[in-house]
Amino acid sequence: MDKIYDMIIIGGGPGGYTAALYAARAGLKPLLIEKMSVGGQMALTEQIDNYPGFETGVDGFSLGEKMKQAAERFGAETKFASVLSADLKSEPKVIKTSNDVFYGKTVVISTGADPRELGVDGERELRGRGVSYCAACDGMFFKGKTVVVAGGGNTAAADIMVLSRIAAKVLVVHRRDSLRASKVYHDALMKAENVEFFWDAQVTEILSDGGKVAGVRIKNLKTGEETAVDCDGIFVAIGRKPASELFADQLDLDERGYIVAGESTETAIPGVYAAGDVRTKVLRQVVTAAADGAVAAHYAEEYLAGRK
Ligand code: NAP
Repeated sequence: MDKIYDMIIIGGGPGGYTAALYAARAGLKPLLIEKMSVGGQMALTEQIDNYPGFETGVDGFSLGEKMKQAAERFGAETKFASVLSADLKSEPKVIKTSNDVFYGKTVVISTGADPRELGVDGERELRGRGVSYCAACDGMFFKGKTVVVAGGGNTAAADIMVLSRIAAKVLVVHRRDSLRASKVYHDALMKAENVEFFWDAQVTEILSDGGKVAGVRIKNLKTGEETAVDCDGIFVAIGRKPASELFADQLDLDERGYIVAGESTETAIPGVYAAGDVRTKVLRQVVTAAADGAVAAHYAEEYLAGRK
């Protein structure tokens, strides 16, 4: 029990690091455990224009680093490890990683969400060989080439914008006849000369040649007709799935796998909070994840003080 913390935060995105900042600044002892690199999904975002305070926007990687440093300035600790199990009901709560066991009086789950897969033939085998889930990370590999973007939400729209500046041609495959993405993207996308839309359509297979993506098979959902189209890469941008499996047997999840928690971030287990994209909420953004982190730290403080 030598490693007992006031708060263990699982996941180093904006929700996690804001909880760490608020907790540390309130004089608590927080430990944040992150499996890879800090920043979460925002670290994969080239340009963030809708987080306040940055008049020309900021790249997500730098913002993640800044959030980490801000929390560490007040004494928050970070450990890089994968959490293998969490016993949320015991007192204190027990968090196991590959080579350590940590004890926390409270736990904030801010594990975010991972990209959803299309689930078609060729996708898994060709991942990293032309199949990508992050235009900001991999777009540069497709300079002057032809790429497909699957999806029609804000992620897809942002990816199309990035890729249209790099690739020779961007083919967008969307299963409906209009984009779900915010209006702010529509005009720019419709004006881009190298962007072509396949409406009411779905990618049904990713084709390869020599172990690399060489094309996709596209099905028109209205006519049923399938066409093979040549391309050098495909960016899958069809939403996210919450990283909540580890907690599924202890917490309530909704039908899409999000941890059920309201604006207070409190879960059904006292002293356990869900912050950011992993919880049920209407708007999943950096600013709303950060807000959740602050709220989680507040309720954790109340809980630790015996007021909750
Ligand atoms: P999203 O808004 O859920 O959109 C997912 C898109 O993929 C939808 O167009 C959906 O089609 C399509 N789709 C889902 N499953 C599919 C499948 N199996 N096959 C083909 N298409 C499929 O997800 P997101 O774009 O990743 O955004 C996630 C959240 O982050 C949203 O709240 C979004 O606003 C936010 N975000 C914001 C920005 C920004 O610029 N402010 C940027 C990125 C993300 P349907 O339309 O038919 O459902």
